[in-house]
Amino acid sequence: MKIVVVAIDGPAGAGKSTIARRLADRLGFLYIDTGAMYRAVALWAVRQNVETTDHHRMEQLAIAAGIELEPGRIRLNGEDVTEAIRTAEVSNGASRIAVIPGVRRAMVAKQRELGERTSVVMEGRDIGTVVFPGAEVKIFLDAQPGERVRRRLRDVRAQGGTISEEDLAAQMNERDTRDSTRADAPLSQAPDAVYLDSTGLDIVQVEEAILKIVRGRVTNGKDFS
Ligand code: C5P
Repeated sequence: MKIVVVAIDGPAGAGKSTIARRLADRLGFLYIDTGAMYRAVALWAVRQNVETTDHHRMEQLAIAAGIELEPGRIRLNGEDVTEAIRTAEVSNGASRIAVIPGVRRAMVAKQRELGERTSVVMEGRDIGTVVFPGAEVKIFLDAQPGERVRRRLRDVRAQGGTISEEDLAAQMNERDTRDSTRADAPLSQAPDAVYLDSTGLDIVQVEEAILKIVRGRVTNGKDFS
């Protein structure tokens, strides 16, 4: 059977992870959260006291990192770091190391390896533009900034976080600006990606909209399930 890549890119809090996970379930594809991979490398850097400005050492860490993605979990060098990579420090660190070309090269190589083996729903910032420019389906998932902050705030609070809405908005804004303005693989919509604004839509509506696109492009209308 043909290997299919569904690429979902977009800014923080647009709902990429939730949607990508559900789509992968529905399609029977592997779900790959590429942000978690950058986060894992950032966590390792924090633990090793490597400055994120030290590009050479950061590249070495990214190449050496043993990253394993299992459904809903991520392991770094054998250790389950699923929860540890979700702190504000690691979010910020991930976007700092994501500007380093050597780090990106290492991550892109790992991501391509995963997507060449089996059909995937892969989400991140540069999947449709750099990692798999030939992906069968490309979605640029967006939402209005206020809604993105509120969604993220809900997630953070559900995990016991106590950050204020203003502080979270400032952090997300800083990260999105850095992600969109870096020289190497900035967040941008691929010319052949479908733009989807999920503001005011619920998960089921977004999922159905994307499934329709997948069916149209990949299966000529046939259902996967
Ligand atoms: O998706 P998530 O917010 O977990 O990603 C964390 C950070 O990793 C992003 O802010 C971005 O800097 C970086 N990233 C990236 N390219 C990707 C996925 C994530 O640069 N494909």
